[in-house]
Amino acid sequence: MHDSPTTSNPQAAWTCPFCPLLCDDITLAPSGDHRLAAPHTACPRLAASLARFGPQDASQKPAIDGQATDLASALSRAVAILSKARRPLFGGLATDVAGARALYELAAHCGAILDHLHGDTLADSNRALQDRGAFFTTLSEVRSRADLVIVFACEPSRRYPRFYERAIGEGRNVSVVFVGCDIDKASTAPTESILAETDPFDTLALWSAHVEGGRAIPIPELVALTERIHSAQYTAFIYEPSTLSTQHAALAIEALQRIVKSINRTTRAGALALTGDDGAASVNQAITWLSGFPLRTRVAYGLPLDHDAHRYRTETLLSRGEIDALLWVSSFAPEPLPASLDDDVPAIVLGHPSTQLPARTGPTVFIPVATPGIDSGGHLFRVDTSVVAPLTAARDVALPTVATVASQLAQARRPS
Ligand code: SF4
Repeated sequence: MHDSPTTSNPQAAWTCPFCPLLCDDITLAPSGDHRLAAPHTACPRLAASLARFGPQDASQKPAIDGQATDLASALSRAVAILSKARRPLFGGLATDVAGARALYELAAHCGAILDHLHGDTLADSNRALQDRGAFFTTLSEVRSRADLVIVFACEPSRRYPRFYERAIGEGRNVSVVFVGCDIDKASTAPTESILAETDPFDTLALWSAHVEGGRAIPIPELVALTERIHSAQYTAFIYEPSTLSTQHAALAIEALQRIVKSINRTTRAGALALTGDDGAASVNQAITWLSGFPLRTRVAYGLPLDHDAHRYRTETLLSRGEIDALLWVSSFAPEPLPASLDDDVPAIVLGHPSTQLPARTGPTVFIPVATPGIDSGGHLFRVDTSVVAPLTAARDVALPTVATVASQLAQARRPS
């Protein structure tokens, strides 16, 4: 029943799965008791993620309604829940490409809606892409070509601690300008900040009018920055969709992309969105190539696909009581169940081995699963979605992968 991980060679560089930068230069120091550390890598996000793994993971058991059980019984109860459900939601979806593929097949057998933990951010980015298209760049292109980097309304090192190391490096002839935010102290290049106190939407509206329409604007800092962009060889725009206002993030992304597009009429520029955490980019890509639609799609064998970024939002579905079962997937960290989930809705949790579920009144199945890159191999899309990184197991703990569990559930749901 368990997957046999191919454990990485302790001397070989290991790829970190805990943020979409997917740093692949890490030397792990595994201990004999399944603890992990990366003593030569200065990354608080990696350190905090590794600290969640320990000797207890090897003895973590599935549970039904809080009572420990074996995997076969947990799978059987999960099948019973899914068989009764008429409108299940597969949420969280923090998994890798193989997990997404297997969950898609299971969803098709169940008529399930698919949404991700970071579904709001994904939906905003998808909408801007659908409406306007985009000029994206890659980590490698920023590092090798950009002589001007514009960080718009965000602090990259807060969630992506090694961003400057990966995208800019040391000793290069590059300047970083923070627009609509303070200087990120982790920046490794000469920096300045402009319009830190100005509403990002006002900045984008005026900047867009100036760059696209050639209009005079009363903000000399933006006019001067536009001149710098036109004399630079390559400008990279960096933004973080999750830090933009959730009400209007798609509009802000569209406005930024319009500016980048206008600049490309006369010189070169590209945008890099810092997003795709917890497998979001990987799952969205996999579901899109399997169905033709991004996440927030309902799939059912024999019925047309139904995509609706508003109606199929996890929070909306839960707060309106529109689902009758939740399958929650959280393999990178012990993400709690959504607060808006009614206590009596049946739940199946494919979770990180350190997950602690609260007592619930509804039927609840917990199956501890392998974390890709820790307990199993796998594949994840990098932040720029141009590279799919292979992951290697870092330790030998026998936990099933999300793909294995989902395939077994699909097998049981398949008509005989
Ligand atoms: S920056 Fe991200 S990918 Fe790199 S080591 Fe830190 S958490 Fe891992």
